[in-house]
Amino acid sequence: MKKKTNILLIYTGGTIGMVKDYKTGALRAFNFEELIKNIPELDQLDCSLKGVSFKEPIDSSNMNPKYWALIASIIEDNYEDNDGFVVLHGSDTMSYSASALSFMLEHLAKPVIFTGSQLPIGDLRTDAKENLITSIEIAALQEKGKPVVQEVGLYFEYKLYRGNRTTKINAEHFEAFASLNHPPLVESGVHLKVHSNYLVKKSMKNKSLIVHKSMDDRVAILKLFPGINKEVVHAVLNIPGLKALILETYGAGNAPMDEWFLNELKLAVKKGLHIINVTQCSGGSVFMGHYETSEKLKEMQLVNGKDITTEAAVAKAMYLLGTGVPDKLFKTIFETSLRGEMV
Ligand code: ASP
Repeated sequence: MKKKTNILLIYTGGTIGMVKDYKTGALRAFNFEELIKNIPELDQLDCSLKGVSFKEPIDSSNMNPKYWALIASIIEDNYEDNDGFVVLHGSDTMSYSASALSFMLEHLAKPVIFTGSQLPIGDLRTDAKENLITSIEIAALQEKGKPVVQEVGLYFEYKLYRGNRTTKINAEHFEAFASLNHPPLVESGVHLKVHSNYLVKKSMKNKSLIVHKSMDDRVAILKLFPGINKEVVHAVLNIPGLKALILETYGAGNAPMDEWFLNELKLAVKKGLHIINVTQCSGGSVFMGHYETSEKLKEMQLVNGKDITTEAAVAKAMYLLGTGVPDKLFKTIFETSLRGEMV
């Protein structure tokens, strides 16, 4: 008889498991058992389900690297006994967490699927049931005794995306996420359609999972806008202890050509700050040197973020700094795709 696949649900919080506090009208997290009780359909799935929950489920706006390390530890402790993992998470910071976990879990050979919902599970029109049930089905997909998905994914509204390619694009629509620089890995319709070509290619060598739990938070984001002044730029570039800055530039990686601006950047790079050029556009790529307005950034040796999302750039910078990558190698390693997060 075919062995049932074991799937572990990791409940961190988010709207999916929230109830309305009738006194205040605000949504607050409730516990895992109640969440599961609301989905009797789970009993019909052809896999064996277990659950672990954060002691105090959180709204994902409270997410931080300590919680990421906790999720990573839960996966590490239960890795051998399970064939796949589904992480229930608030949608607000889900793309950051999915990105972070993709870096933290090196040589991952099993699915880790993040999902959540826009409406609480108890709501009549909830999107939670479909999202959760299909995430479990995808996590349980096997081919020749091996998981079909062997990376960190994010499932929402009929699509599984690579987690570190996603961005939350809508605060109301059920279709809350987009992955503009990488196509969906799996689409759910009458059948589950797996796009094998787009999945992370696995090496044939069976390497053991390595879990990196140290994320260095000496990272900041600076988003350019017309009129940004010298005081703001100077203050951010000179934050004491700052190690990496995600510079959100325009279009294909372009920035103003004012001398004061370029000098501020030059000085910061000279002092050892890693400045990563990431586009503000949700789709497309940085192409330094394509326009005059990015030539100087290229000369200055800014790190080329290519088509990475800001969420993945933050996570990758924290991960590389956390693993103690030497300053000299930071640019080269950042510009290399480690988990399919960039071209
Ligand atoms: N504020 C909620 C959270 O991110 C929103 C959601 O779950 O969709 O936890």
